Amino acid sequence: CGIVGVVGKPAREVILNGLKNLEYRGYDSAGIYLNDLNGHDYLTKAVGRIKNLEAKLTPDEQGLVGIGHTRWATHGKPTVDNAHPHFDESHRFYLVHNGVIENYRDLKEKYLQGVNFKSETDTEVIVQLVAKIARENNLDAFSAFKKALKLVVGSYAFLLVDSQKPDHIYIAKNKSPMMLGVGDGFNIIASDAISVLDQTKTFVDLQDGDVADVTKDSYHIETIDGEAVERKPHKLNIDP
Ligand code: GLU
Repeated sequence: CGIVGVVGKPAREVILNGLKNLEYRGYDSAGIYLNDLNGHDYLTKAVGRIKNLEAKLTPDEQGLVGIGHTRWATHGKPTVDNAHPHFDESHRFYLVHNGVIENYRDLKEKYLQGVNFKSETDTEVIVQLVAKIARENNLDAFSAFKKALKLVVGSYAFLLVDSQKPDHIYIAKNKSPMMLGVGDGFNIIASDAISVLDQTKTFVDLQDGDVADVTKDSYHIETIDGEAVERKPHKLNIDP
């Protein structure tokens, strides 16, 4: 039930700390995807407390980009396979999600016949859909993500990483909370600002319908239809 993503600085501790600060929201499992921008990536998930996840991480599992998640199961039991991040059949895309996809069954039946699913979640349908759209239309990740989102009905805060272009985090928000924190040489995305106040105090409030392409020193916000959106960052005057 919480999300933290970071691009542009060592991501593992930032994400684990952020997820711990989000523990108050409640969760049954947790997971993290890290990419070192040098050809290595790591996916780790655990049922129960964040310290169970930490215990599974080996010292070499580090990244300069990462996405993490605490799950409050709505579709599928709290198991390791159902924990986020989810990934597509080719292990190209990694996705975390807070919310509920109302039409995941329809999407699965209509577009994803024959796909080998690893989990029982509504979320996995979306990452498999993005992968299929990217592959079949030869689209980049952001374009495929927006095309997929046009088909999605439900609530979501999504963070997506394309392991073929891992220095970006693609994000989307609809009826689930998500903030973009602006740092010096890095950017951070979280379900709430409080959880990452030790990293930055400058935030962009994302609105429902926003999608964005976030790198370490830029963020480009659009509507799902591709119209540019201007959102001004503001400073929070509170101490962590
Ligand atoms: N509906 C998703 C699931 O059950 C996400 C739940 C959440 O917001 O943590 O996996």
